[in-house]
Amino acid sequence: LDGIEAARAPFKSHKWTSEPLLARAANPNAPEAVENPADSGDSPGTVASASEEDIETALTYAAPWNAPAEERKAILNKVADLYEENFGQLFALLAREAGKSMPDAVAELREAVDFLRYYGANIPDAAPVGTFTCISPWNFPLAIFTGQISAALAAGNAVLSKPAEQTPLISHFAISLMHQAGVPKAALQLLPGAGSVGAALTSDPRVDGVAFTGSTATAMKIRAAMAENLAPGAPLIAETGGLNAMIVDSTALPEQAVQAIVESAFQSAGQRCSALRCLYVQEDIAKPFIQMLTGAMDALSVGQPWQLSTDCGPVIDELAWSGIAVHIQTARSEGRLMHEIATPNSGRFIAPTLIRVNGIGDMKREIFGPVLHVATFKSQELDKIIGDINATGYGLTFGLMTRIDDRVQHVTEAVGAGNIYVNRNQIGAIVGSQPFGGEGLSGTGPKAGGPNYLTRYTARPATQ
Ligand code: ADP
Repeated sequence: LDGIEAARAPFKSHKWTSEPLLARAANPNAPEAVENPADSGDSPGTVASASEEDIETALTYAAPWNAPAEERKAILNKVADLYEENFGQLFALLAREAGKSMPDAVAELREAVDFLRYYGANIPDAAPVGTFTCISPWNFPLAIFTGQISAALAAGNAVLSKPAEQTPLISHFAISLMHQAGVPKAALQLLPGAGSVGAALTSDPRVDGVAFTGSTATAMKIRAAMAENLAPGAPLIAETGGLNAMIVDSTALPEQAVQAIVESAFQSAGQRCSALRCLYVQEDIAKPFIQMLTGAMDALSVGQPWQLSTDCGPVIDELAWSGIAVHIQTARSEGRLMHEIATPNSGRFIAPTLIRVNGIGDMKREIFGPVLHVATFKSQELDKIIGDINATGYGLTFGLMTRIDDRVQHVTEAVGAGNIYVNRNQIGAIVGSQPFGGEGLSGTGPKAGGPNYLTRYTARPATQ
């Protein structure tokens, strides 16, 4: 509780203003207010986008981090220490800029710290690639952002970081802690702004590699820009979207399955690339099982991220909100809405919702919010639905709830997904022992937090 109180204090009072981290001679871009997704009347601070001149300066001065491996390790550990010491401000920014609930913020800080210490402890004995552009998303503005940067830095690269436009302030704060710990400014520069800044930083021949987490569509644009402008063979490390399924058969323990589903589909308001999107329930248990699930949904609390009772905070911005709202409205008008719970009628909240589908093939795209699609299946259809799941082309996470051992073996071998979860929630990774990453349209291996990941950031990648 001490920690939570410490987090609340700056949450109420803090105002962040961007400080130029580069030599910004004359930035023509005026500072713009960053939004609080849970409260349209509040802004946690302002930030000016990187100008063309900033980008040019960053590219000119970028220099690989050539400190000895031991020093890099010590400094990355120091960054981890500083993250832990500054947890109050980090929690405050996670809540106020990204809408993260307190438990989500705690988990995110933990993961960021784990990345720093794990990559610091596993520095590869190889030359760096050179200058890496790291482009990060808003949904894990601390963990994914730190994971990419610390991997690139551990391997001795220079980093140009382009955080998501929705969450620049936490990136500013985190980068200032990295500089404070001793990462040289020439080895780590922050270039906030919209996708156009990312586009500039992935299409300049002075860039040697790119780490990207975001949508599959943007990853494809980056791949094309790199092929045209960067040296042949420049690495692209991409983590992208998913259409994640879970199968619950009639032998599953219902309480365990319901809890796992609620966490997998609705935590972080469903704004995780790993989140469960399409649930298959065996037909003979479907009716009572879905009743239990809707009962559990009714107990969820949707609200302000800083309230300790909140299970489901806001979605990130107006565009996200309206896209999800239209999807739910379409399902309602087609008579496919199975259940939704009450939502606060202000702010960008979306009620956890169930929508009926025939199967994952009905889902044309990833709906990045607390919306779960539900289909039923007969036992003889198991292989067909596995085929449908694989046919989406994505392959990020998959869940299975069953008490039939042979089925565990059969299904987990047949489904193509980077992370497979059996009889537990379909969430997360453990840095060092359970790395995270997708297959197919969901990403290019090796997995983050795993032993081979850093080889992608070196000039002589080990053969996989
Ligand atoms: P999301 O759905 O997570 O917002 P995006 O792929 O749109 O996914 O964004 C992820 C990151 O990619 C953000 O930092 C965004 O600004 C950046 N981005 C968007 N378009 C481009 C682009 N054409 N080139 C490089 N980066 C981009």
